[in-house]
Amino acid sequence: MTKIRHNERTIELEDAIVAAPGIAIGVAVILSDNILYTPEYTIMRSQVEDELNRLNAAIERARQELIARQQELSEHFGKAVDLLDPMLKMLSDPALHRDIRTLIEKRLKNIEVIFAEVIDGYIDKLASTNDRYFRERADDLRHIRTHVMLTLLGRTETNLRNLSEDTIVVANTLSPSQTAAMDKKKVKGIVTELGGKTSHSAILARALEIPTIVSASDITKEIRAGDVLVVDANHCRIIVNPSEQIIKEYQTARSVYDKFINKLRYIDDLPAETKDKARITVSANIGLIDEIDAAITHGADGIGLFRSEFLFVEREDFASEDEQYQIYRKVLEKMGKRPVVIRTIDFGSDKPSHEHRKYPEANPSLGWRSIRFCHSMPAVFKTQLRALYRASVHGNLSIMVPMISSVEELMKTRHALDQARRELSKEGIPFNEEMKFGIMIELPSAVLIADELARHCDYFSIGTNDLAQYTLGVDRGNKKVAHLYKVSHPAVLKLIRMTIEAAEKRGIPVSMCGEMASNLHYTQLLLGMGLRHFSMNTGDMRGVKKMIRSTTVAEAQQIAGKILQMTQASQIDQFLHAWMSEHFPDLFDKLG
Ligand code: PEP
Ligand code: MG
Repeated sequence: MTKIRHNERTIELEDAIVAAPGIAIGVAVILSDNILYTPEYTIMRSQVEDELNRLNAAIERARQELIARQQELSEHFGKAVDLLDPMLKMLSDPALHRDIRTLIEKRLKNIEVIFAEVIDGYIDKLASTNDRYFRERADDLRHIRTHVMLTLLGRTETNLRNLSEDTIVVANTLSPSQTAAMDKKKVKGIVTELGGKTSHSAILARALEIPTIVSASDITKEIRAGDVLVVDANHCRIIVNPSEQIIKEYQTARSVYDKFINKLRYIDDLPAETKDKARITVSANIGLIDEIDAAITHGADGIGLFRSEFLFVEREDFASEDEQYQIYRKVLEKMGKRPVVIRTIDFGSDKPSHEHRKYPEANPSLGWRSIRFCHSMPAVFKTQLRALYRASVHGNLSIMVPMISSVEELMKTRHALDQARRELSKEGIPFNEEMKFGIMIELPSAVLIADELARHCDYFSIGTNDLAQYTLGVDRGNKKVAHLYKVSHPAVLKLIRMTIEAAEKRGIPVSMCGEMASNLHYTQLLLGMGLRHFSMNTGDMRGVKKMIRSTTVAEAQQIAGKILQMTQASQIDQFLHAWMSEHFPDLFDKLG
């Protein structure tokens, strides 16, 4: 892609959210979406010819694409197709080019604005006639407009799998499957207009350690494909077309940051132990097999959450029992004796399966999700359970189910597990009879009956991402309400405390695998509240372990005691920020 050297400018993304810290430098690729924004800026008279050349190049590319499509159609139908001919003719219509030249010389605006204005004039005229032939030509022109504008703006359905240069993906929104499928070596940074810190794409980007900013309003309007970008995700800032000097400065800043992170590398080999020798476990959350190596090198005590649905988000089917068995077996063999928690498929909401795509829902977060989906698709669920049981002989596996809301649902799940076990026994297939079974606590209803739920499962894992969403009634991926999404809300903290107490009372372990566990601002608070098992993205493990190793349980309890008296999330966050900056200035500055 051509690198465009427009003026250097800095965009401070005030309302945006850092989903994964770090500094990235690369060339912008803009992912197309349904809404086509048109950037508008003034040009100098001397730039008119350059802008016209840009249009001619875009038109030529659009022509080539139309010709290729025409050929494809002809081959498909086995005869010449000239449907696109009128469009091709329109693209080279001298009148169109004359009008464009006249307007750009008069208005001195970028070519996207001029082209859109001229072509919209043509479309309006054709569309307003009573003649069907002309109205159809208006449709052709709309098609051309989209094509040329996409080309001009460099927005294509870019295949992010194979990129040739360091790339910054700029998009309105990214799906978890797009994120999972991208070329991890070449995508250096991500900026999206939508999404929250706990939207699944953001979680995945953090897991992949790709600096990511979400909720960056109108960013696709501000940036053009081919712009060179510095994404400073530590300060929520983008520098567009930076000078060599600025690039050098950021390269240095990046290496200082990397050095700092690497300096914490020694922690990988040390246990997550408080100063007073309380052994805490820090496990990894993963969604892709590729992440296991990172979990091991970061010294994870195990896998605390394997989001199994990520294995299948891109597919048009559910994987067969054998295919799943092979994958789970591989995970277990790689992890050896360490415990591995595989969560049953949590499809729905922002992770639709191919089945979901057939039935759009008005409220997907409150709809056909997680365990509800599994219970309505018993064959799919059984396939996964059988595969998991079969794999259980290859390591230290336990099964976890998401979104349990009632005892009935839990019992139904147990029933499905029993059935899978019975079948395997009958077939003489070995499995681990003692395999543990846990549930995620991510709904307020589950917390309120945690005491009962604990009688029927082996452990709890608190999913704060959803627990906060459902407690506060705030969509975790909606930027308009992102400021209301606070895991430090006293109501959320109370529910966490209640869950820990219920688990303690019934003598079952409780861990936390929501993003709150990975945020070192909350480490002492959670320790003080009684949490002993943390699970998080591998990228966050060093910081959290450092926090654990720098505190005592008594100190953590003191902090928790103070915080649990507070009535407002803002007060709690302010307190924790001040505490961090005073006691751990280095961690606060670089990782906080
Ligand atoms: C959670 O809700 O906190 C959780 C870990 O599950 P997910 O983010 O996959 O919904
Ligand atoms: Mg969840």
